Amino acid sequence: MEKCTFNEAKKLVRELVETKGFPNDESALTQKILWAFVELGEAADSYKKGKDWRTVSEELIDAIFYILDFIGLVEKTQGIEIDVDRIFLEKWKKNMERPRQYGQKRDLSK
Ligand SMILES: [Mg+2]
Repeated sequence: MEKCTFNEAKKLVRELVETKGFPNDESALTQKILWAFVELGEAADSYKKGKDWRTVSEELIDAIFYILDFIGLVEKTQGIEIDVDRIFLEKWKKNMERPRQYGQKRDLSK
């Protein structure tokens, strides 16, 4: 199967939303985030129930679909462009520059 970048995936999700007639205006933005959480819940439930890794991974990808759907819809409704690949790489670099175990002040072993 072919590969794609986050930006290409964002366009594919847009195509899916338009083809399948899913909510596609500014009023749908909140529900896109909500559905991403629902898909994370489905992933956690699949993991808890011992489903196979393919199923758990697919639920996580569903969450990414909704995240990219949100970003694509922001682009469409706000008339801006969001370079997801660049944001990912910049955030990765930023995180790599942070100290070891950043953001984990509490020692959870106690
Ligand atoms: Mg799902």
